Amino acid sequence: MLTQRLILTGDPAHDEPLIRQAAAVIRAGGLVAFPTETVYGLGADALNPLAVRRIYEVKRRPAWDPLIVHVINRNQMRLLVREIPPLAEALIDAFMPGPLTLILPRSEWVSDIITAGRDTVAVRMPVHPVARALIEYSQTPIAAPSANRFGRPSPTNADHVLDDLAGEIEMVLDGGETPVGVESTIVDLTTQPPTLLRPGGIPLEAIESVIGTVRVFGERPAEGTPLPSPGTAPRHYAPRVPVLLTAPDPNTLFGAVKDALTQYAIVGVMIPEGWLTPDDPRVVRFNWGPWGDWDTLARRLFEGLRWLESKQVHAILCPLPPAEGLARALRDRLERAAHEVNS
Ligand code: AMP
Ligand code: MG
Repeated sequence: MLTQRLILTGDPAHDEPLIRQAAAVIRAGGLVAFPTETVYGLGADALNPLAVRRIYEVKRRPAWDPLIVHVINRNQMRLLVREIPPLAEALIDAFMPGPLTLILPRSEWVSDIITAGRDTVAVRMPVHPVARALIEYSQTPIAAPSANRFGRPSPTNADHVLDDLAGEIEMVLDGGETPVGVESTIVDLTTQPPTLLRPGGIPLEAIESVIGTVRVFGERPAEGTPLPSPGTAPRHYAPRVPVLLTAPDPNTLFGAVKDALTQYAIVGVMIPEGWLTPDDPRVVRFNWGPWGDWDTLARRLFEGLRWLESKQVHAILCPLPPAEGLARALRDRLERAAHEVNS
């Protein structure tokens, strides 16, 4: 199969017919990768079980890992859930559309394939104009996990999507770089108190300011057992090379790179602006951004991991962000990436 790449310009007059073409693919049961504010999604008609099944096939995603359903508005969300409890209403008012996913009791319209057999469904209302137009023109909710091969770093541009999935999906809508760069925050509202299943684009602190205390999911269940949230699988978001995390200070990172050079022939570094690495041609630097500017660092995280990997480095060193604000999501993704080879 030839994967069509439709390049969008941001001009509605130019983009609309292209997005309508993509919507026709969705309606016909095909797969379209599309930009959202978080990362690129791999979309299928959520009400078509055969189309949804293909998402799992092309991603090589295990059947126990459920999908997020993307909706255009509250009415479409109502179709998918049995109820929207008061805490959900409050979060919808505060953060939707935006990078937040809610776990709610599912309705009869949601297939077991989407939920991996659970009685709950993950719903999200994206704010990205291309994602919104695609859902609107498709006239159906769109099931969409990240448009990467299972376990790989999420795609933040159309090249990343094609690197993983070219030839296996009908189309990619190329809307440039995604603005947030890490996945949505997932909050389970079927527990008491609510549970943060995955830190993401909306900081935990912002969620708690609206609905009060949220329990942070911390367990790392054994592999293969059903997970409360598959994003919590320890092996996730991993590049193909070892990721080594260091304390977030310039001297520690410098020393760690020096040590790594005694073990690895070529060492990649996610280097914050103004920090130094040993002067050695075997060091490959990805200029990550100003430390503490989490918006920028989030936008460039997956790009950096994929770019360093493409430079054939044998290990990637990276300072570990703190568990606060948007940095909590970066920390989470890096810990998972590191877990792949350190265990
Ligand atoms: P992805 O979009 O590839 O990051 O994956 C979607 C994520 O949504 C999964 O990793 C799960 O963590 C989460 N998810 C989807 N449905 C459910 C559900 N019913 N219960 C808990 N988590 C879910
Ligand atoms: Mg994913």
